[in-house]
Amino acid sequence: MDTRLSEFREIRITKYVPELDILNNPILKANEKRFLEDFYEFLENDLDEDLRKLEELNYHVEEPIEDKKQEIVIGIMKKLSDHGYYSTIGTEDPEYELGPIMRNALIAYALCGGRWSDYSERYIAGNWSIEMGRLAGGTLYCNPVNYKANTYQKENFLYPVSKEGNIGASAMTEFNAGSDIFDMELRLMEEDDTVVIKGKKVFITNGLIANFIIVYGRLNSGQLGAVIVPTEDLSLNDFRAARVYTYGMRDAFVSRLIFDRTKVPKENLLRGNGIDIMFHQLTEERLVISAEALGDAMKKILFSHTWASHREQFGKRLHQYQVIRFPIAENIRQLNLLLSALFQYARTLDEKPELVSSKIMAANTMGLKIQTTELAFESAQHCFRTMGGRGFIRQYSNQIGLLDPYCMIHGGGSNYVLEDSESRRFFKTRPTKPERTDVFPRIDLFFE
Ligand SMILES: Cc1cc2nc3c(=O)[nH]c(=O)nc-3n(C[C@H](O)[C@H](O)[C@H](O)COP(=O)(O)OP(=O)(O)OC[C@H]3O[C@@H](n4cnc5c(N)ncnc54)[C@H](O)[C@@H]3O)c2cc1C
Repeated sequence: MDTRLSEFREIRITKYVPELDILNNPILKANEKRFLEDFYEFLENDLDEDLRKLEELNYHVEEPIEDKKQEIVIGIMKKLSDHGYYSTIGTEDPEYELGPIMRNALIAYALCGGRWSDYSERYIAGNWSIEMGRLAGGTLYCNPVNYKANTYQKENFLYPVSKEGNIGASAMTEFNAGSDIFDMELRLMEEDDTVVIKGKKVFITNGLIANFIIVYGRLNSGQLGAVIVPTEDLSLNDFRAARVYTYGMRDAFVSRLIFDRTKVPKENLLRGNGIDIMFHQLTEERLVISAEALGDAMKKILFSHTWASHREQFGKRLHQYQVIRFPIAENIRQLNLLLSALFQYARTLDEKPELVSSKIMAANTMGLKIQTTELAFESAQHCFRTMGGRGFIRQYSNQIGLLDPYCMIHGGGSNYVLEDSESRRFFKTRPTKPERTDVFPRIDLFFE
């Protein structure tokens, strides 16, 4: 059953807003613009139809849509991969002379935000779920595997994803160990020439559709480690994956995984400490999520702007009311400030790859991730407010992906945990013996 009411018309973006067009941004360099122009062309010619099919499916209830979605999502990842837009591992880029991190960030921005197309005079859809699937496979799976894999592991587990567009997933989160990943309970038991996996994972993006999963857990030594699970291996038993149904990110296959003494060969085990493997790609992940959030915020602002320009109440267009107009202007200002920080960090990391292990860089990109995902969240709230009752129904919220940014306050490291660790760091001091004046208030202070 299609849930759309015929009385409600679809919102169509009809106006070009120069401040929201990244190609119009003066701080983007010529080669970066060329890359983006080509990506937008690919988005319009190769992906737009698939993304609209996904949107269409989300208007239906009481009908099986998951198999159709799965096929579309897997097809999109393959198309991205065929054009070199999935993983940035081994992407030699003489054409655009673009570093891998800037490249990754620009794709993330464009794929989440979509774009008003001057050529076809319509809005080309963006989709954060699809981008999250791309990030999970192309970056969160590929980067740690590339970091630690030996030649055998690269050939069998990395290249099928990074070069051929198979689906990858990264499984850290558990029911008890969420933010606190050090508390992981899943066991990786080393027995002769096999690793026996016992435990459960939850909220794993791509989990249900993945061909390869990097699974983190506790080794015999008690240390954290990582093993690759090829899900299509015919001898793989006692493994189950099920979809977790979310209210946002509806096209991302966020999943629960159960490993019930699942056996994989010992040669699938990555060497090194699991924490080091997980954290190695953190700075890049934070930048790509920031780019996603900014693309998404741009989309929400574009929809708020359109609706404010068209909807008339009390004899005036909504944009004539300051309460509607001001938040849109403020969000646009924030968006452009944060975009310039993103470009600067991404370019700097590309120029100096050794900064990937800089603690200050990791902290700065963490700050950017918090600010950008909070902006996406805020832009969604303003969009919801501007839309009135329409924001409340699928007919409109699907098209805009209104609830996607609610998920990303937690995805990629929960903002509140990150903020807490940030604030603790600011107050970190060497313990000193308290002086008497620290224990009792100094009386002279009261008379100053
Ligand atoms: C859309 C989406 C996709 C995801 N994809 C993946 C994936 O592919 N792979 C994967 O492994 N995981 C994935 N996750 C899981 C995600 O990483 C976790 O949801 C996140 O780490 C938070 O864990 P939790 O949900 O158990 O919340 P909890 O850890 O239970 O936290 C609950 C609340 O308490 C707050 N809190 C907890 N500790 C502190 C603290 N010290 N200081 C301040 N506040 C604190 C948190 O911020 C949060 O608001 C995904 C999540 C989402 C929403």
